Amino acid sequence: MERAIKEDLRKRAGNIETCYQCGMCVGDCPAARFSNFNIRRIVGRFLLCSLGDIFERENIWDCLLCFECAMKCPRSINPALFIINLRYAGVLLQDINTLLKMSKIIKFAENIMETGLSVPLTDNLINLQREVGIPPRSVSEDALRDVKRIFEKSEALEYMKKVSRNV
Ligand code: SF4
Ligand code: SF4
Repeated sequence: MERAIKEDLRKRAGNIETCYQCGMCVGDCPAARFSNFNIRRIVGRFLLCSLGDIFERENIWDCLLCFECAMKCPRSINPALFIINLRYAGVLLQDINTLLKMSKIIKFAENIMETGLSVPLTDNLINLQREVGIPPRSVSEDALRDVKRIFEKSEALEYMKKVSRNV
């Protein structure tokens, strides 16, 4: 199974096997500036090691998906797209850290889809807002319908369902 997933990843990330480890992708990477995250090293590991090795040694969740690296790569590799697919590969391979991260992200995304808000409106939060004089937040029916449509049209909903089936 890992072999097929790796092959699929290769196809989705452009010419990843042509990476010559120049490190141009790291220079302006915001994740590299503030953590041990190094996209050049991860791509190198992908070419030489198993996916399990990457999941064990690298924090693929530090990537902010800003796509800066994709604009810098002289080989037209898209490292950001590679990271997105690597995360999904972690779900398919049932990597425990990936599953834990994904389950949190899915809950977060479901909340946005159902309420239109990124932060759940708990009683505590509502009371706190009242105390400091912030008017109660609400999202209109029209806006909520639009949010749902975005989830459907962008295929995010389908992706969430696929991930949930594996989590
Ligand atoms: S910029 Fe491209 S070729 Fe250079 S290390 Fe990064 S992925 Fe590899
Ligand atoms: S997409 Fe990820 S790896 Fe690429 S520059 Fe942004 S944070 Fe770094």
